Amino acid sequence: FLPQEIVRKKRDGGILTAEEIQFFVRGIPDGSTTEGQIAAFAMAVYFNDMTMDERVAFTLAMRDSGQVLEWKSLDLPGPVVDKHSTGGVGDVVSLMLGPMIAACGGFVPMISGRGLGHTGGTLDKFDSIPGYSTVPDPELFRKIVKEVGVAIIGQTAQLAPADKRFYSIRDTTATVESVAMITGSILSKKLAAGLDALVMDVKVGSGAFMPTFEKSVELAESIVKVGNGAGTRTSAILTGMNESLCHAAGNAVEVRVAIDYLSGKARPARLHEVTMALCAEMLVISGIAADDTQARARLQAALDSGEAAERFARMVTALGGPADLMDKPDAHLETAPIIVPVPALHAGFVTSTDTREIGLAVVALGGGRVRPQDAIDFAVGLTGLMELGEQVAVGQPLAMVHARTQQAAEQAVRQVQAAYKVGAVKAVAEPMIFRTIR
Ligand code: URA
Repeated sequence: FLPQEIVRKKRDGGILTAEEIQFFVRGIPDGSTTEGQIAAFAMAVYFNDMTMDERVAFTLAMRDSGQVLEWKSLDLPGPVVDKHSTGGVGDVVSLMLGPMIAACGGFVPMISGRGLGHTGGTLDKFDSIPGYSTVPDPELFRKIVKEVGVAIIGQTAQLAPADKRFYSIRDTTATVESVAMITGSILSKKLAAGLDALVMDVKVGSGAFMPTFEKSVELAESIVKVGNGAGTRTSAILTGMNESLCHAAGNAVEVRVAIDYLSGKARPARLHEVTMALCAEMLVISGIAADDTQARARLQAALDSGEAAERFARMVTALGGPADLMDKPDAHLETAPIIVPVPALHAGFVTSTDTREIGLAVVALGGGRVRPQDAIDFAVGLTGLMELGEQVAVGQPLAMVHARTQQAAEQAVRQVQAAYKVGAVKAVAEPMIFRTIR
């Protein structure tokens, strides 16, 4: 094969064989395929798309470009299962979901990512726990998955290295927005964790990665078909992202939400609904529970008994975090020096929020990155975010801003005010769970 002949075939609308795709992808991490060829390939796929068979071959080739974890030799007494989301704001689900699944008998080797654009990253949230190592050596990672049932860590350079180079080239050549390539990019990284089953949380709404409901459905269907085609039981749930998933957005502030949720102190309704739906689907498709009802009963029992909270605490200490984080979060999690309210400019009902803008306000506060090498300020963020449909009086806080400087606080106040639309009519509550695709 020649890379340029593969590009030519795709350019002319041809269907590539698995061998051609494997050959092309192999040349991405080892540098034998040039940046120009990769960019041209991406543009050809952008315009001419890939069949499901091509997507499966592409996903597997990208997965196999690096290390693929194996769990068989550990003889785990339950399935290896994970969840992935297309990214959101105030989406702290993974922190509770991993321990909840572990408490029900699943094994969750979750390799999480950093915040991207306006969305938060699970990895950044864990980095806000002092001492917690998101880059343990592989043996420790295996040991914790085996003994605790869950370990949430960061990506290593050994994982799907083809995607790393391919994504950075797509990012700079206007070829990110292709369902075929997004499918391969997401799944190659997830499937490298050696999963038996995967549930995908595809967000819809003003804070979602995909621009429309239809595009979210298309991505969810593609991921389900390709995941199953690649040998991992996969399903997807479309969930709402028309407002922050919980009342906090940031890093340490979201870890506090997770701790309160697991300890039973507070379980915000929308966050609970999405967490339970994703967890139940994981238990069902991995065969731990017979159906949704049984799955939910087991999950509720894992929360009520404190077993899920205990798994979280054990994971945190095993990875180097404080042993008393659950009891004394304030002794360990950073707090911002400046905390100010965002006064509402109008009276009425919250009719919409620009969730992307809320996420960007957190990034501007320092809670996310502008450049990949930027350091994160774990303390900053938003709390007390008002929900859609809530009634507000003039001057009443729409949220609280946690900032490092007065100037940053003032900018965030304006951004949050602009993101909230307040009107005379109370909007009909939207569902959080739109559809499950299996
Ligand atoms: N996230 C990914 O990991 N890959 C994509 O292509 C898009 C979003």
